[in-house]
Amino acid sequence: MGYTITTMLSGVPVESDRGALGWSSVVLLEGRGQRILFDTGSYGDRPLLLQRLESQGLCLEDIDALVISHFHFDHMVNIELLTEQQLFLHSRELDYIKTRAFAETGDPFVPLTHVRLYQDRLIPVEDGQILFPGLRIVHLPGHTPGTMGLYLEQEDILLTSDAVKNAADFLQGRPPPCFYSETEALKSYDRVRSLTPHILPGHDREFILGPDGRVEYQERSEVNLDLQDDPYGSGRLINII
Ligand SMILES: [Zn+2]
Repeated sequence: MGYTITTMLSGVPVESDRGALGWSSVVLLEGRGQRILFDTGSYGDRPLLLQRLESQGLCLEDIDALVISHFHFDHMVNIELLTEQQLFLHSRELDYIKTRAFAETGDPFVPLTHVRLYQDRLIPVEDGQILFPGLRIVHLPGHTPGTMGLYLEQEDILLTSDAVKNAADFLQGRPPPCFYSETEALKSYDRVRSLTPHILPGHDREFILGPDGRVEYQERSEVNLDLQDDPYGSGRLINII
């Protein structure tokens, strides 16, 4: 028996000139006696995340462990909901936040207050480590020094987080925004390609790279923006996926 993979929140491949929207992927893995959450989404995601857990018949206490792909707000800030669970972060990312290196590199997405709160609770992990049976840590640096993915060995799928933010960037060889190294980010793309064609990205829907090199999305998703820009009208609903 392997793991059941449930995308609790689908990543959305969207940028804005107002700043990061942070609509990242949140994934629940269930199997082999464990329930593991991969990333947590952001503050704005919280009600929907809780609602989706409830619709699975779960509450927060049912989660055994939390794997944090990297310490950007849109992936980790809901740690504060999970007070008892084990929290895993790559050792390089833990150094990055503990030494405050993120401030020197101008990385604006690491919340310092959360670093202070959680730096002693986070458990460092390494590339190749089998976190739980069938779940392997894959270090994919570039976006940050310690960005990591999780490879499900039996299911042959890689959760990449922001090492692969979306299918378009990956297909066209454009690295994600890098607070560490674009060269390393492109090497991480190579590593992802060599591992599996089945990818669940940080800000996009799960996809498979077909034999012809084309992207086959594996899930449907929909986000509606309700824009109240007309005080005399009913607003506008914008569907973006
Ligand atoms: Zn990030």
